[in-house]
Amino acid sequence: MMKMPKPICHHCNQTRRVRKHGKGRITGTQRYYCQLCKKTFQTKYIYKANEALIARQVTRLLSQDNTPEMISTVLQVGLTKVRYYIL
Ligand SMILES: [Zn+2]
Repeated sequence: MMKMPKPICHHCNQTRRVRKHGKGRITGTQRYYCQLCKKTFQTKYIYKANEALIARQVTRLLSQDNTPEMISTVLQVGLTKVRYYIL
């Protein structure tokens, strides 16, 4: 079974201390809690709210030899969108 990459904290940009934090009651969106900055975030919500941050994360993940497919999974952004940021 393939191990799912963890989402990146949208506040401090790390993955190591991010934990699942239940789901939004209305939207069903997975929420996460970062133990480092003690904040919660929702990947889809943040994605819509902060495209510039996503673009920076895509660039950083690429520099760490992640494939577009891996980046798409980690950031929960569509593969087409990831490629858009790469190009
Ligand atoms: Zn954090």
